[in-house]
Amino acid sequence: MRSPAVLEVIGLSKSFGGIHAVSDVTFNVGGGELLALIGPNGAGKSTCFNMLMGQLQPNSGRVLLDGENIIGLAPRTIWRRGVGRTFQITATYPSMTVIENVQMALISHNRKTFSFRPRARSLYVDEARRLLDLVGMTGQENRAAAVLAYGDVKRLELAIALANNPKLLLMDEPTAGMAPKERIALMQLTADIVEERGLSVLFTEHDMDVVFGHAHRIMVLNRGVLIAEGTAQEIRDDAQVREVYLGGGAVFAKQGQQNA
Ligand code: ADP
Ligand code: MG
Repeated sequence: MRSPAVLEVIGLSKSFGGIHAVSDVTFNVGGGELLALIGPNGAGKSTCFNMLMGQLQPNSGRVLLDGENIIGLAPRTIWRRGVGRTFQITATYPSMTVIENVQMALISHNRKTFSFRPRARSLYVDEARRLLDLVGMTGQENRAAAVLAYGDVKRLELAIALANNPKLLLMDEPTAGMAPKERIALMQLTADIVEERGLSVLFTEHDMDVVFGHAHRIMVLNRGVLIAEGTAQEIRDDAQVREVYLGGGAVFAKQGQQNA
């Protein structure tokens, strides 16, 4: 971990009826760290994310953001404290243009309300342009969000998430539904932004090429339990991890091969 920790997760647990979705999970996210959380379907990754965001209350455990507890706070409060997220389902306003979407996010971040709508067009234009430039969307500012290619919608979502100036960004399967090339591009972009802005990112991802190629550190969750943590090489060499992915051996395929 690149210390000091931005987020400390201590003994986090969540059950649904008899299912232990997340069991006593403990980890830190360091400042400026690009940290991957991987694991088979149903491992508990999204449940973890939902607890960090305040959407789900844990049965037990603590989550500290810059040393302060965030468990029990409303999602919006946690967001205001600097935990951003990109959504698996797209969170853009299709009827607005690209730049208007980012402006709305900036307006929201700066606590202006929709009553400013008539003037919204002129608010935060420069900042919105800077964010769109950061995600590689210069020249697309005035297109309707509805007509964007899927990969560009994802870039726009990233710009919207960054408008809140998060210290920690949570990305649950950010590349779902993307072609392999687009996935690599989006993660490369994310890695560049992590480098440039020094924010921390925790992400889940199915494509192991993307994970091994970009994450600074990787954690493996299986049936709600963290079973391994380390660099790409350490995770590749971990016997327990190999066992979990046995049968899905493509997880450890070489670059360029696609997972099922
Ligand atoms: P992942 O994101 O790693 O695929 P999830 O966190 O979505 O895994 O799910 C972990 C386990 O918890 C699964 O067994 C899932 O069926 C169960 N689960 C998740 N959310 C709920 C819920 N709201 N109610 C009941 N069971 C749930
Ligand atoms: Mg999930």
